[in-house]
Amino acid sequence: MKGPKPNSTNNIFELEESATERKVLFDKIQSFSEDFIDTLDTQKAFHYDTHASTERDSFFKINRDKESLDDILAFFKERVVDTGLNPASGGHLGYIPGGGIYSSALGDYLAAVTNRYAGVFYASPGAVRMEDALINWTGKLIGYSDGFGGNLTSGGSIANLMALHTAKHHKNITISQVSKSVVYCTSQSHHSIYKALKIIGLNTCIIREIPLDSHFRISVSALETQIKHDVQIGLKPFLIVANAGSTDVGSIDPLEKLSNISKKHNIWFHVDAAYGGFFMLTDIGKEKLKGIELADSVILDPHKSLFMPYGLGIVLVKNINHLAAAHAYSANYMRDAEMENQYSPADLSPELSKHFRGLRMWLPLKLYGQSPFSDYLNEKLQLTNYLYKELQTIGYKVLCEPDLSVVAFRLELKNYDSDVLNKMILDYIQQDGRIFISSTLLDDKMTLRAAILSFRTHKKEIELLLYLLKKIKHQLDI
Ligand SMILES: *Cc1c(COP(=O)(O)O)cnc(C)c1O
Repeated sequence: MKGPKPNSTNNIFELEESATERKVLFDKIQSFSEDFIDTLDTQKAFHYDTHASTERDSFFKINRDKESLDDILAFFKERVVDTGLNPASGGHLGYIPGGGIYSSALGDYLAAVTNRYAGVFYASPGAVRMEDALINWTGKLIGYSDGFGGNLTSGGSIANLMALHTAKHHKNITISQVSKSVVYCTSQSHHSIYKALKIIGLNTCIIREIPLDSHFRISVSALETQIKHDVQIGLKPFLIVANAGSTDVGSIDPLEKLSNISKKHNIWFHVDAAYGGFFMLTDIGKEKLKGIELADSVILDPHKSLFMPYGLGIVLVKNINHLAAAHAYSANYMRDAEMENQYSPADLSPELSKHFRGLRMWLPLKLYGQSPFSDYLNEKLQLTNYLYKELQTIGYKVLCEPDLSVVAFRLELKNYDSDVLNKMILDYIQQDGRIFISSTLLDDKMTLRAAILSFRTHKKEIELLLYLLKKIKHQLDI
């Protein structure tokens, strides 16, 4: 049976466009996207936002009346696409890039058009099986064997939150025990770990930042000494948080050793592999990440090292029952959806309704298989090695040999305060805009960092960065 025909002159039906109207909309969006991708080479990786803050709300404002898609797209380009960072650019080497592969955007498009309810098996067995397949693929990739579980999240922060909540729940850290419970991390731990601890009410537990070695990895001997001391004075060590690719320098903590210590003292072992995890697709990565499979929980960000657009993280827990026990709830109105022997994503997560996230990851992996992802990641490792060597050739100090694809470096010149000098270099690169790098603080000194991770970053971008660094050094070193 057909309902009333959509009719653009009648306001009631405007949200249900006709096929012709859909095509007009789609063609414009598609042509905008093509233009964007076609001109990426000449687009900046970073634009200063020059708009006065008073302008901010003019066109952004929602009005009673409709506006044309042409106007909307022109505004979108000027005020959104052409401001700030351009994470789609191969010149983006700041923070941790990702890129955003096109086929993933198409997956999102299909997900939104079909609007499957991906939270509950009963509502969309297909969407849930797709998510399960992705969790299974990722778990096997890091070396988990049967019995693990996981969830597709919006990103690494929520994934960390879920993992840490699971650890807290499993280790039964009740309110009365919080002040005696100890978490072990380092100054290289991502701030989302601290945020997660705060959200789950553990910011008042004892948080020990264990010293680092010269490669910015946790010092295992310092950790052991600290744990023994804590046990002796009656505290309860309950969580070790390790990096598998820290944000600052990409360092990987000694995972096997940390797992041994955690087993010996009955401590939950969490590995933050938000950035580094998918390097398991490379031989070098597999070697360096050895021991990741021993973790009680691991998080990864497909929107980083799998080049997906923002909005996709993964939490994995070695024993799915721990994840479920920490999240499961039931309600009378959900009775139809309860199933035996089948967890739904909603049983394993704080979310009930959620974006059908699986498709944006599943479609590219199905279309291309996993080998191009390995190839691109290998290319990033090679480029990193190249940058690491060339930086030293042109007189920059590198802080440590990269474990993965982040190089931390700074310039040190006589007659200059190091922080002032490196801030000048950062400003110069950002003003130029073709390459974007970011900075951090290491050994209390301002340090520049290049994170080579976008699938669009190739030799050309690295050469351009080196050229700019050489040029500014000449200008400053007189
Ligand atoms: C990016 C990152 C996070 C946070 O992930 P989001 O996806 O930005 O929420 C956590 N840990 C590490 C090591 C990261 O690089």
